[in-house]
Amino acid sequence: MKICFATNNQKKIEEVKAALGSKFQIVSLEAIGCHEELPETGNTLEFNAFQKARYVKENYGVDCFADDTGLEVNALGGDPGVFSGRYAGEPRSDERNIDKLLTSLGNETDRTAQFRTVIALILEGKEYQFEGIAKGEILFERTGNGGFGYDPVFRPDGFTKSFAELTLDEKNQISHRGKAVKLLIDFLSNR
Ligand code: IMP
Repeated sequence: MKICFATNNQKKIEEVKAALGSKFQIVSLEAIGCHEELPETGNTLEFNAFQKARYVKENYGVDCFADDTGLEVNALGGDPGVFSGRYAGEPRSDERNIDKLLTSLGNETDRTAQFRTVIALILEGKEYQFEGIAKGEILFERTGNGGFGYDPVFRPDGFTKSFAELTLDEKNQISHRGKAVKLLIDFLSNR
């Protein structure tokens, strides 16, 4: 069964492919001939994930799933949330996003935060949603060189290291996206 993962991020695609086996053929946007940017105009992760998945289904006729992730910081009322990728404006920059986050938090002592991933799936005419959450706190300064995005300033609960100091395997086991992908894979595998 062919399902499009509405992304061109090859790493994300490989991760899902490796976990799913041969029952499902996971294809990228490029592989179905979709080269335009997908609409992402909502104010919630859920809205954007479903907007992307529905766009692919409606325009390309392929069953599809799409993900959207945000960093939700309690002391900032859930910001940057759905705007995490462009928190410091365009062009997108992880470095400027982190700078803005650290400046916004200042010396705030409540540094609790969570990464949240929503996956929207459209399969055989029905819609499904999967969510993965990783709780932790925002560090006062960058630590570690791995990962991407806000990884250097996010310490997951139960660890003394930042996401940027974990191996990809370690991070995938406990991360928001890892958890949401696992739920998706469990669901698909049982069909
Ligand atoms: P996306 O929905 O996966 O494109 O994620 C949106 C934005 O959230 C990214 O541009 C990053 O700034 C941030 N983000 C998502 N996942 C992670 C992660 O695992 N670590 C750090 N930042 C992340």
